[in-house]
Amino acid sequence: MRIARTLAPAAAPIYLQDIISGIKGLLSGQQELRRFESELKGYFGVDYCFLVSSGKAALTLILQALKEIYPDRNEVLIPAFTCYSVPSAIVRAGLKPELWDIDPRTMDFDYAMLPTALTKLNELNNPITPAHDPSRLLAIVPTHLFGVSADIERLRGLLNEHEISIIEDAAQIMGAERNGKKLGTLGDVGFFSLGRGKALSTVEGGIILTRKKEFAQNISDRLSKVHGYGVVELMKLFLKAIALALFLRPTLYWVPKSLAFLRLGETIFDPGFKIKRMSAFQAGLAKNWKSKLENFGAVRSDYSKRWSKLMKPSKDYDLLTIDHELNANPLRFPVIIHNDSRRKNILKESNDRGLGIMPTYPDSINGIRDLANGFEGQHFPAAKKRAKELITLPIHPFVTKKDMSKIAGLISGTTE
Ligand SMILES: *Cc1c(COP(=O)(O)O)cnc(C)c1O
Repeated sequence: MRIARTLAPAAAPIYLQDIISGIKGLLSGQQELRRFESELKGYFGVDYCFLVSSGKAALTLILQALKEIYPDRNEVLIPAFTCYSVPSAIVRAGLKPELWDIDPRTMDFDYAMLPTALTKLNELNNPITPAHDPSRLLAIVPTHLFGVSADIERLRGLLNEHEISIIEDAAQIMGAERNGKKLGTLGDVGFFSLGRGKALSTVEGGIILTRKKEFAQNISDRLSKVHGYGVVELMKLFLKAIALALFLRPTLYWVPKSLAFLRLGETIFDPGFKIKRMSAFQAGLAKNWKSKLENFGAVRSDYSKRWSKLMKPSKDYDLLTIDHELNANPLRFPVIIHNDSRRKNILKESNDRGLGIMPTYPDSINGIRDLANGFEGQHFPAAKKRAKELITLPIHPFVTKKDMSKIAGLISGTTE
């Protein structure tokens, strides 16, 4: 165990002041939740907004609602490289994930390579296999990853089937906009995560946004049958908020990091998560969220631009092109390390020296053991490659100039 200055990989700070707002929120109850909802609706320009316990809970409810509206459809098309919470939610909703490989430069779907389900849809005369019957496709989940925005309009242009819904996974990109439209509102329905390490955090939390009335009615009915947080769960939430407020600073981050059961930075496939309505405590924690989103976003934008300048792509590593002009600031700055043993070495060194460099999702979705059977014979080489190449650098307010030069030195091999 390392007891010394340690950088967190990502951190949307929670301050003691926020926790006081959380307690006040809890005391005002429903009113606090309605406030947060109506502020979100105003800011994002949508008619309907629902607040839940996590991003994956949001996605599950969305999928369950769609499944009820289109009962003959049961497949959900997602990027072959994405957060493991996404297939977890699909399985939780009783549906089947289907994969589409990524474009390694944008991390968006690879449009040069349409999945069979879509080519069928466009009647390109491919042989029909039952597994890819387009009439089974319920939804497609374009995803904004690492500050590079997904091209939702392009996807929309490919669909001539209005029964297939576009669910915009905007978990990583709250606050960005494209052509004057806020990301998260470009699909038929979108969701954000308010988990640890996201742009804005209420310890855990999720937001559903939509303009579709029938769909919103279904979600609303569904949500009225879902439990809220119990007293014990609220206590846990409260303690986690305190822990985050105290331990995210580099002088103390070794504490939570050394507590393995907190599973910091791990990404796991687990459809057994809880689905709850958001508590008024969380809505209270989110008080002043617009200015927080702006301030934290400005810090990440600043760091992200500095990293982009500092890290000149070389034979050893590459960078993604971040959509800074859309205010799409990554949560952690992505770097592609070509050499596997070198990458492992960087991660190990960072771990020993507390530099906050992290891997991302450990494998492409078809590499998840519990799901592998469903993808036998299918290959997603770009997703697999990126999973083995990506690392992320921290870009939160606790990172100093000195940290940056240590990290840059480690990656370029000129370590002091
Ligand atoms: C974090 C994340 C999610 C899930 O959000 P949780 O609140 O952790 O459940 C979904 N998709 C992406 C791309 C994410 O980064």
